[in-house]
Amino acid sequence: MKKPTALILTALCVILCACSNGKTESQTAKTSPLNIPEYIGNAYTEINGNKPGFTEKEKSKTKSFEKYSRLDKLGRCGTAFANIGTDIMPTEERDLISSVKPTGWEQNTYTFIENGYVYNRCHLIGYQLTGENANERNLITGTRYMNVEGMLPFENEVAEYVTSTRHHVLYRVTPVFEGDNLLASGVEMEAWSVEDNGKGVCFNVYCYNVQPGVVITYANGKNAPDKKYTAKSNVSGNKSKAIISREDTVRTYILNVSSKKFHLPSCDAVNKMKPKNKKTYKGTRSSLTKNGYSPCGMCNP
Ligand SMILES: [Zn+2]
Repeated sequence: MKKPTALILTALCVILCACSNGKTESQTAKTSPLNIPEYIGNAYTEINGNKPGFTEKEKSKTKSFEKYSRLDKLGRCGTAFANIGTDIMPTEERDLISSVKPTGWEQNTYTFIENGYVYNRCHLIGYQLTGENANERNLITGTRYMNVEGMLPFENEVAEYVTSTRHHVLYRVTPVFEGDNLLASGVEMEAWSVEDNGKGVCFNVYCYNVQPGVVITYANGKNAPDKKYTAKSNVSGNKSKAIISREDTVRTYILNVSSKKFHLPSCDAVNKMKPKNKKTYKGTRSSLTKNGYSPCGMCNP
């Protein structure tokens, strides 16, 4: 795959073709409804039998690389493709990425969403894998739900595998935009561990860019509360209780008083911190965020 740029077209063709023969970038994608099962309450679904669509040539690469597509004429991201190895993983904490405003960025807050915000600047290739900060070719508007419930567990799987084996994982994330929509309907994530022929890591999934309780207009990213959802007060009521307990649970965090990030004690970044910036803190997440601290993107405390 030399030029992932063309993949920013509508996604279905890309996904199907990429899986069947892996060399589709130059084909014209048809605008057709996504042939992906409708969202029914799971953050992701397996596609193509969970098999990634990498070519044999791609699967033979044991050198790390990372490539990001140029933005298309609407300013949208395309495929991000990498061979993840420890040599391109980050060694520093994440910087601020708020300078990037991806397409469909119509931010709103809702009481039933953790941290309130419906949208995250969502890394296509997670920061923990390639250390890309404010790279506009790697950040899309994604719901908190897609970011945390959909993508993060897969990202973590890849990161853990690469760190523990020091092997490589081919990793490709393709945002799926229907027609001229500015907000992606979801992302396809493919991964395959190279040195052991996919034994360690092998998946092809689609994560839905949805947020339970929120009605989203994908043409522009605008969003509003789902009245039906709010009416089911038991579901959202329980959920917000769970969120409150996480926010208000007292536990030990490690602070970086210079960058104003907080970490789990087990985070890699903690060992790399300058001693003068490091502070152990016992308290709640909510008191930290009130005092201007934000959670580390790697350990997701
Ligand atoms: Zn951390």
